[in-house]
Amino acid sequence: MYNYDYLIVGSGLFGAIFAYEAKKRGKKCLVIDKRNHIGGNIYTKEIENINVHEYGAHIFHTSNEEVWNYVNQFVKFNRYTNSPVAIYKDELYNLPFNMNTFNKLWGVKTPKEAKKKIEEQLKESNIENPNNLEEQAISLIGKDLYEKLIKGYTEKQWGTRATELPAFIIKRLPVRFTYDNNYFNDKYQGIPIGGYTKIIKKMLEGIEVRLNSDFFKNRVEFENLAEKIVFTGMIDEFYDYKFGTLEYRSLSFEHEILNEENHQGNAVVNYTEYEIPYTRIIEHKHFEYGTQPKTVITREYPAKWNKGDEPYYPINNEKNNLLYNQYRELADKESNVIFGGRLAQYKYYDMHNVVSEALKCVQENL
Ligand code: FAD
Ligand code: UDP
Repeated sequence: MYNYDYLIVGSGLFGAIFAYEAKKRGKKCLVIDKRNHIGGNIYTKEIENINVHEYGAHIFHTSNEEVWNYVNQFVKFNRYTNSPVAIYKDELYNLPFNMNTFNKLWGVKTPKEAKKKIEEQLKESNIENPNNLEEQAISLIGKDLYEKLIKGYTEKQWGTRATELPAFIIKRLPVRFTYDNNYFNDKYQGIPIGGYTKIIKKMLEGIEVRLNSDFFKNRVEFENLAEKIVFTGMIDEFYDYKFGTLEYRSLSFEHEILNEENHQGNAVVNYTEYEIPYTRIIEHKHFEYGTQPKTVITREYPAKWNKGDEPYYPINNEKNNLLYNQYRELADKESNVIFGGRLAQYKYYDMHNVVSEALKCVQENL
């Protein structure tokens, strides 16, 4: 009856894992993507012999051994450790918030001195139970650091006041009282040698892929092709926004090839003041310790999301989460459609979350 067992909408990490595992189990899959390339947001493209992270810096990190082993079967990872620096009004600070940051800001040298400083600032602010991003940040690292490294960055990144944002967003960043600039606390971390697209290519080997194909442009035709659908696009769009539109934050990326070997000395430099319109500049070669004669940099500009724009970040505040739950209820009743990934699950997922969700989904459905 059907030409395929599964139609997989989206060739990002979730869709590619599902397709790979389905093929392994003898299922016939068709993967479609509305973009002109595979890989979704982890797509990397070679420019000047450098693997450019087309949609912003992507560093793989996880504490889950199963997830780490899973991705390592497709490609070797290097030992890259993300240690961004932040620039605020021409002053440079180490991230995440650690003894190097506290020393630069206050001149303190010991953890005891740093903790005392934060405690003093916390007392002044009178915050007991932080219930938004601003309060959470101040209670973690004090007002000085909040004003220099968080407020401006956060408000331009999200296009809203830090007092209107959920506290969990800032808890993504470690705060530690050691001289350790590692941005993540995870056990495993690295960059795939040769770029992320290599992983997705391997996963999709031998599977039919149609690019430049938007599910919603030929919905009926696509639905008639396969017995089941794995959908990794926007869940509200799938239901024609019937309960309302979920909010996202978009971005624009400005790539530039520079005729110099080393532009900023680090893969990621954050610009934390509000007045600078981009949040970070990525210098891609440093993810893989490149020594090419030229370099490629990318400025990342946060942008308002309107229907039709790329929905890079779900905005997981209470209002949107409630709306998502209404769509989720419909999704749970579907017998032939599986929803997965950052957009269909409307969650601020990192890659390791997507891998473990995809593997869970495979176990439940294949
Ligand atoms: P996506 O990669 O978004 O894939 C979905 C695919 O579906 C896309 O290719 C899209 O074109 C396609 N699609 C959507 N709708 C349709 C349709 N109607 N028809 C056909 N195709 C459709 N994670 C980390 O672990 N570390 C990081 O350092 C990191 N940095 C990030 C930086 C930025 C700027 C962003 C935006 C994300 C970052 N992430 C990072 C998160 C990571 O990108 C995601 O977790 C992961 O890519 C999500 O995979 P996915 O398959 O769910 O979604
Ligand atoms: N953040 C900040 N200053 C920084 C870096 C991050 O205020 O220099 C805040 C900001 O609100 C951001 C959040 O921390 O959205 C999470 O940062 P992360 O680097 O995890 O963001 P992502 O890489 O997902 O964009």
